[in-house]
Amino acid sequence: PGRAARLYVEDDPVAILGGDTLKQTVRNSSTAWLVQFYSSWCGHCIQYSPTWRALAGDVKDWELAIRIGVLDCAHERNFDICKEFEIHFYPTFRYFKAHASVDELGKTYRGANRELQTVRQLMVNILQNHTRQDWPVHCPPLGPARSDDILALMGKTAEQYTALIVEDEDSYVGREVILDLVPYRGLTVRRALSSDKAITEKLRISTAPAAYLFYPNGSHGALDVPKRQRFFFSSFLKLLPGVRRKQTASVQDPVHTLNKGDEATMKDWKEFDRSKVYMADLESGLHYLLRVELASHHTLEGEELVAFKDFVTVVAKLFPGRQPVVKLLETLLEWLTSLPLEKIPYDAILDLVNNKMRISGLYLTDHVQWVSCQGSSMTLRGYPCSLWTLFHILTAQAAQRPDALANTALEDDPQAVLQTMRRYITTFFGCQECGKHFEAMAKESMNSVKSLDEAVLWLWRKHNQVNSRLAGAMSEDPVFPKTQWPTPDLCPTCHEEQNGLHVWKEDMVQVFLKKHYSAANISPKYSS
Ligand code: FAD
Repeated sequence: PGRAARLYVEDDPVAILGGDTLKQTVRNSSTAWLVQFYSSWCGHCIQYSPTWRALAGDVKDWELAIRIGVLDCAHERNFDICKEFEIHFYPTFRYFKAHASVDELGKTYRGANRELQTVRQLMVNILQNHTRQDWPVHCPPLGPARSDDILALMGKTAEQYTALIVEDEDSYVGREVILDLVPYRGLTVRRALSSDKAITEKLRISTAPAAYLFYPNGSHGALDVPKRQRFFFSSFLKLLPGVRRKQTASVQDPVHTLNKGDEATMKDWKEFDRSKVYMADLESGLHYLLRVELASHHTLEGEELVAFKDFVTVVAKLFPGRQPVVKLLETLLEWLTSLPLEKIPYDAILDLVNNKMRISGLYLTDHVQWVSCQGSSMTLRGYPCSLWTLFHILTAQAAQRPDALANTALEDDPQAVLQTMRRYITTFFGCQECGKHFEAMAKESMNSVKSLDEAVLWLWRKHNQVNSRLAGAMSEDPVFPKTQWPTPDLCPTCHEEQNGLHVWKEDMVQVFLKKHYSAANISPKYSS
């Protein structure tokens, strides 16, 4: 039973269904459902679970149209429901159309091929099997567009973009891109067939698949992506200026939607380059951390003091900052190491940082100024964004300068930065839930990190895991939707498609991260 509960967990992008929830979930639902009835003792089901999990992650953005579920028939509380649904073999794949009736037992997929791409195409077919009457409410049209409708867009201004994917008859790319963009507003995606001469000739499209974009201002042109693949088309479209993720949380939080007050914030908008890191963000983050977050602790002792000392060690030795800031951190470190105290009142640290050092010209900004971490409203982005950025910088610096931590308590430890971050996050980071999640990830795999290079990749991988979990959450800034990063515009060579599934080229990611998070890529713009 321990294992039964473990094959799929709450954090997986699948809906975990049971005897008490299956019927009410799949019947009369506004979306279609594809449910895997499995058994936790069936070896094949166990081996298959990574594929199912990967599939669910891959089609997470389709969930307003079709959703993925699992139900464990080996769980005692599910015995009855599996009997009622006549599940004889594991795994059984059942799909339910949207608005399924109350006595619906679903249709079984009997194909022998259960590879991710095949099942994903099955999902598209399931959607297209709906009629006009029972079409899932939020699913856009998936059939080819009429050439007249498309050509009428030429030269016309519009409220939003229209993207057109032109493809061969047996291709699924167009429909997959349409579904990938379901949770985004500001854009409509349509598809057309390469056999539609009216379109291909007028738009001068000679190879398929190809993408074409009609801009709101009436201009139009071919969409230039490094590879003509689903992932590249979808990523490009999601990043168009003005295209935003819809708020999916059931209750709209007024703080988190753009409202009048936010326009003021937008007025002070600072232009920035997404391919750069900004010193202003890093210094603002350090200021907030030292003077606000830590300052809520009266005294530091025991574990807290260790966590703080390690943190100061790592930043003093590795942070590629401006001279007065680095000096300030070094002086703080010297002071901490020279004091063999078990317990330090935080006011003493504040006094040192704010007053004593200032006299000698060592100075850290005393206000926040977010640049690439600025949010579309006051409550979004900012500090947590700067903290991720700081730790990516530190892992990259450690890989570049392996001797930087020599003669410190952290010397020769490939996990030095990661373990320091872990201690900081669990001990001090104000978002406690975040800390719990991070600790769970750290416990699972941080100890397997064996080199400074692996540490860079570990943090990148985990950050993407967090991005994936938070996509569409309330804390997501609609202007900066959570994506798997680096996006193909930042690093085209980091991405590849294998058997229709996006894969990372990790050696390229490694090279990219070290360059992106290098001292040379930190812009001094806006740092006062
Ligand atoms: P961030 O995710 O903060 O990223 C900042 C910048 O880093 C991005 O703009 C991008 O340039 C770059 N970047 C993005 N992904 C990667 C990557 N994979 N590798 C390298 N660089 C990357 N919020 C919650 O609501 N729930 C949580 O459980 C949660 N856990 C957190 C745990 C930690 C350790 C931290 C530091 C933050 C956590 N947060 C959590 C906050 C959340 O992750 C974001 O920081 C916050 O929502 C702001 O998001 P953002 O859009 O500014 O981008």
